[in-house]
Amino acid sequence: MLVKLTNQSAKLGVIGSPVVHSLSPVIHNYMISELSLNYIYLPFDVERGSAKQFLNAASLMGVTGFNVTMPHKQDIFAGVAQALGDASVAGSVNTAVFRDNKWLGYSTDGDGFHLSLKEKGIDIKGKKILMLGAGGAARAVILNAKKMGAGKILVLNRTAENAEKLASAMKVEYGQWKKDIIAREFENADIFINSTPLGMHGVNHNFDNFDFLDSGSKIVCDLIYNPLRTDLLRQAEQKGHVVVNGLGMLIYQAILSLELFTGAKIDAYSMKASVEDYLVKNGHIRG
Ligand code: NAP
Repeated sequence: MLVKLTNQSAKLGVIGSPVVHSLSPVIHNYMISELSLNYIYLPFDVERGSAKQFLNAASLMGVTGFNVTMPHKQDIFAGVAQALGDASVAGSVNTAVFRDNKWLGYSTDGDGFHLSLKEKGIDIKGKKILMLGAGGAARAVILNAKKMGAGKILVLNRTAENAEKLASAMKVEYGQWKKDIIAREFENADIFINSTPLGMHGVNHNFDNFDFLDSGSKIVCDLIYNPLRTDLLRQAEQKGHVVVNGLGMLIYQAILSLELFTGAKIDAYSMKASVEDYLVKNGHIRG
């Protein structure tokens, strides 16, 4: 992968803190190169609280668009001239685009998740969803699931107060984070989604056990993409459930962002397969 840099190359990037582990520069520069676009995509480590200053600096520097990761999604939402689509409802921006001399904010995470299900022929319409976790990713996914006509959505979270806040903002149900409740609600659900970092590489916490997976044949999603097959997904697969990891969401949200940045129309499924192949072959993600 080699981006051809010229003096006319438009500048894109990602802001976060820390941003050193972000896969976005690799993914975007690979896509830019595959599509022969005259762009370059850079990582910007911007400390917490400085996101609004970055917005001003970015337009001065000629940055035409950027992605936003932790901890800036809400601050950029507050800083853009207008938030559109999912971003306006979620109160969070993962894609900022400089258009007509002003910054516009979008959120592509929810649509990215949706495409990762669609790719596997999974239709969320009418499905009962059990969501573990109540953070930013849960919010984006729930927003999209509602848009796509999901059935009952139940949120279980370690901190009940956060589950309650999310549930009341999104108008979904919430319950207590307890072993027997997780097992009971797993049985009642069609799709189970883990949006906590339990089982993520570098995180010292995992599920205590996977007994809750013992009922029925479900769709088990983990938003984690490192590792690709978390213990949750391995166990779920062994117990006969259909599994979906977080890599699809990561790549599809990037594809949708690049379309917003550049106006290019990208064949999402074939680009996703190509990016995945590149990431695996070059050791950017582990199995
Ligand atoms: P976040 O806003 O910080 O929320 C984290 C959530 O996980 C909270 O609900 C938190 O519960 C819960 N949690 C944290 N540690 C826990 C533990 N030890 N036991 C039980 N619950 C715990 O983070 P986020 O942005 O939503 O990200 C959540 C996960 O999704 C991460 O694994 C991230 O890698 C993944 N993600 C993937 C993508 C993708 O493109 N695939 C995109 C975004 C995020 P409390 O409320 O109790 O703190």
